[in-house]
Amino acid sequence: MSGYEDLEAKIIDTGICTSCGACILACPTFHIKFIEGKPQRPKRALDCVRCTTCYDACYMLREGLMGDIERGILGWGEKQSIGIYRRALAARTGEQNRACQDGGIVTSLLTYALSENLIDGALVVGSNGWMPLAYTAKTKGEIVASAMTKYGTVPLLKELRSAAVDHGLSRICVVGSPCHIRSLRYLQHRNLPLASAVRFTVGLLCRENYDYHCIVEKVGGKGLDIGEIDKFNVSEEFGISAGGRKLSFPITEVKGCVPKHCLVCEDFACELADVSVGSDGSPEGWSTVIVRTEEGEGIFSGFEGNKIVETEALQDVDYLRGIADRKREKGKQTREIFRLRGEGLEAKELAVELGITEERVAHRLEGWQAA
Ligand SMILES: Cc1cc2nc3c(=O)[nH]c(=O)nc-3n(C[C@H](O)[C@H](O)[C@H](O)COP(=O)(O)OP(=O)(O)OC[C@H]3O[C@@H](n4cnc5c(N)ncnc54)[C@H](O)[C@@H]3O)c2cc1C
Ligand code: SF4
Ligand code: SF4
Ligand code: SF4
Repeated sequence: MSGYEDLEAKIIDTGICTSCGACILACPTFHIKFIEGKPQRPKRALDCVRCTTCYDACYMLREGLMGDIERGILGWGEKQSIGIYRRALAARTGEQNRACQDGGIVTSLLTYALSENLIDGALVVGSNGWMPLAYTAKTKGEIVASAMTKYGTVPLLKELRSAAVDHGLSRICVVGSPCHIRSLRYLQHRNLPLASAVRFTVGLLCRENYDYHCIVEKVGGKGLDIGEIDKFNVSEEFGISAGGRKLSFPITEVKGCVPKHCLVCEDFACELADVSVGSDGSPEGWSTVIVRTEEGEGIFSGFEGNKIVETEALQDVDYLRGIADRKREKGKQTREIFRLRGEGLEAKELAVELGITEERVAHRLEGWQAA
């Protein structure tokens, strides 16, 4: 019988836990807490009834099932590197998007769905001084307050209990990174009762994430306080806007802030979401939208018909496919680097073995050492 100790040994302590929050949500005694960036059982033996619930709730232990789950949600459509989908668009909303990350699609899609009574609330990520914090939004104002991208891991799914039980919601939209949405799909597959309160998922495209405290330090090194920042803009470079000033520096400067679980992650396009949204592939101020499921098509078509959004076919889907292919390849390669490092190979030997530069191996190993 596998329980918390096994979850800790296989997932949490190895650094591949994505902090999705599902084990915290599932624990019947509320015994697991989010402490120092990861799920932990504060008092080792006390209160833990030694069941298998937390172990059973972790999708990272069932990666082999994800193909079946994907086919269950999306059918047998053509599987591509950005996942199975119906259509890919560039989209933007009007005035609203000025306070949003890109085209303002996530915020305005949620407010549309709420006003049309298609959802009764949303699980979103707001922030405290840019530190990401998950919460339940039930009003337009609460949704708008979650706009903009925050970097840092956030145990989003642990808030599902509060959304469904404390707030009494039964048609929730969950907005999350690919790891959040994969985890949620696994909970739905297992018929976890709380997961049945989710009606709709909006997934964010994601190349990688950064540890919040590490970013605070990096930004401090540039002479800025995190509280001065108005917006992060990360693509090929790490961009910051603060008080009308724009600053950008090479992405390699923050590579040491990428958590280990992101280094081995292979999902860029949030392949299991109803609708995926990002910025890659669209001009500045626009969002890239990938509509995948029937549910997603129904809600997004209604949104388009409401004339609050401008859309056009995405011109360069191959650009997205390229990013998705590189992430998948990098994830597989990094798993191999960690495995061989665990067997005692040094960076130089790893570089020769895998045919990549020693510098690249060193960047990945920063994550391995941080775990
Ligand atoms: C960690 C991370 C990495 C990303 N990497 C890429 C990338 O490589 N390429 C790309 O094209 N797009 C990426 N995105 C998506 C992009 O930054 C925007 O979120 C997306 O384009 C939506 O823009 P918008 O204007 O429609 O969003 P807005 O209307 O501004 O709404 C933003 C939404 O994002 C949610 N959110 C904010 N921070 C987080 C978080 N840490 N975790 C989960 N949800 C959050 C909020 O709940 C809010 O609903 C990333 C997002 C995150 C959070
Ligand atoms: S009570 Fe069960 S679910 Fe909670 S920590 Fe203990 S073993 Fe895990
Ligand atoms: S369920 Fe999520 S938070 Fe819990 S151990 Fe697994 S990946 Fe980590
Ligand atoms: S890279 Fe993967 S694990 Fe990291 S935040 Fe993005 S989806 Fe989650």
